[in-house]
Amino acid sequence: MSITYNKKLGLEIQNHLIAKGLESFRKVPHNKSEQLDIISNAYSDILKTLGLTTSEFDKTPYRVARMFTQEIFYGLDYENFPDCSLFENDFHYEGVLTQKNINIMSFCEHHFVPFEGVAEISFIPKDNKIIGLSKLNQICDFFSRRPQIQERLTAQIFETLKFLLKTEDISINIKAKHTCVSFRGLNDKDSITETKMTGGALSQ
Ligand SMILES: [Zn+2]
Repeated sequence: MSITYNKKLGLEIQNHLIAKGLESFRKVPHNKSEQLDIISNAYSDILKTLGLTTSEFDKTPYRVARMFTQEIFYGLDYENFPDCSLFENDFHYEGVLTQKNINIMSFCEHHFVPFEGVAEISFIPKDNKIIGLSKLNQICDFFSRRPQIQERLTAQIFETLKFLLKTEDISINIKAKHTCVSFRGLNDKDSITETKMTGGALSQ
């Protein structure tokens, strides 16, 4: 899937979320190659400290550094925000639009292990403007791809959609399984965390 980014829109969204108290992250403090070096070295220390010094682990620090900086945490950088221009609602649809089963793959910022689940988003189009459906998935993916907590993830997507769609008539629900609960701690394989935010005509 090829995604078009919109740096200008990304920075507008970041400023909006900062103003709403929903963003504390500001800026990546190093360029990409410095990040790769620093993380590789630090991860190599972690492996050595665990006694993992055999050749199978030679490339692991670099792989982890590349994964953090170029893949699973790309959503820290608002320059990677998807281009979400709205377009005319030619069919003048005034009902509720719901996008279900949006896959969420994120990373618990407390334990640095993944959580994954599905999001459901509903909204009522305003001023005859609609958003490309796949953009909803891309927005969810953007905010998921960083060290995150589910509550903030839900609030950031909710606030971003209000900002983009210029309406309060939005609801979002996320159900996710956290490996920090299933794979450690309580080791509870079945529990699911649900978060929900609703507004305007979709308030519950
Ligand atoms: Zn956790």
